[in-house]
Amino acid sequence: MRREQYKDFDATELFCSKCRRAVPVRKRLLLVLSNGNKYDYTCTFCGTSVGDKMVTERDNLRVLLK
Ligand SMILES: [Zn+2]
Repeated sequence: MRREQYKDFDATELFCSKCRRAVPVRKRLLLVLSNGNKYDYTCTFCGTSVGDKMVTERDNLRVLLK
């Protein structure tokens, strides 16, 4: 079994509409659901939510960006 998990996504920079540039993001556990966890990503500079990610056990990774 592979155990790479979410490393790649944690290092990803996302575009912040306030800063108008790609910014490093802070990951925060938002919701714990029966079929997976939902994480929220916020800009480390201004704190704006720049995206969220739904992690399900079935799909491994699914990224939902606003
Ligand atoms: Zn920002």
